[in-house]
Amino acid sequence: MKIAFIGMGNMGAPMAANLAAAGHDVTGFDLADVAVAGVQQAPTIAETVEGAELVITMLPNGEILRRVYADIIPVAKVGACLLDCSTVDVQSARDAHQQSSDAGLLSLDAPVSGGVGGATAGTLTFMAGGSDIAFAFAESAFEVMGQKAVHCGEAGAGQSAKICNNMLLAVSMIGSCEAINLGDKLGLDRQKLFDVVSTSSGYCWSMNAYCPAPGVGPQSPSDNDYQPGFAASLMLKDLGLSQQAAEQVSAQTPLGAHATQLYQAMVDDGQGDRDFSAMLLRLMQANSA
Ligand code: NAD
Repeated sequence: MKIAFIGMGNMGAPMAANLAAAGHDVTGFDLADVAVAGVQQAPTIAETVEGAELVITMLPNGEILRRVYADIIPVAKVGACLLDCSTVDVQSARDAHQQSSDAGLLSLDAPVSGGVGGATAGTLTFMAGGSDIAFAFAESAFEVMGQKAVHCGEAGAGQSAKICNNMLLAVSMIGSCEAINLGDKLGLDRQKLFDVVSTSSGYCWSMNAYCPAPGVGPQSPSDNDYQPGFAASLMLKDLGLSQQAAEQVSAQTPLGAHATQLYQAMVDDGQGDRDFSAMLLRLMQANSA
């Protein structure tokens, strides 16, 4: 397949490389000067998109997506599929779909879970919104870049699923950190607490698979001095999108709102580059305050 790939940063570069390695004809564009194995570089978006059947974007936010789509849509081949894998606000995703369909193009919003490790290994999970035809069109690309693609519904459904998941992840991570911190203060051994929680009703991914306490549970960023993993600044971005969406549809998310405040404080304190599980250290520090 002839593929255009726009936005070859930490995530996009390995995704584009995997598509090229699988035998696709990939042309890439990024504002930064990046070289990606097997991917031809084009000097403009128009030249990147020319003749492409699938146009993939992996960009920082909705505002940039809107600007880039304004350049892509007039030059994309009729019948091509625009596949946006960035994490953006639901409204920008829906507007991108509308503009694409007005121009006779297929489109999907398909943000990912799995981080840079998943992008490199080709094991991302895609959560997609858009028509059945668009989803079927992109399926072979999903198979190269990921291990699973869930068709969540119509336009914007992928972004909606992503922010609901990540809001829950933030809340469960903070809850796990609070349980460990309280256990510490009660004199509980962390390993014993893990043995109980991980096989009891407190079971959750944050505790079982990504334990915020070092030396407990499977290997996780806490065992590597909280190097991300999933940086607190990226969690804050997704929480912000969840709160923006919640406000738009009048959904009550009190714990999501509080989690946003706590991650905002972490980022404001210059800890945005640490893994989001380092929330445990902040609670421990606050004990003595
Ligand atoms: P990044 O900043 O490393 O990459 C973004 C790239 O887009 C950069 O190379 C930048 O130069 C390029 N870019 C910006 N404006 C452009 C434009 N107008 N035209 C062309 N290129 C442009 O970010 P990333 O970590 O690769 O994340 C990309 C997206 O994936 C974000 O929406 C992020 O929220 C999401 N995401 C990231 C992770 C992660 O772990 N990094 C995990 C899941 C989802």
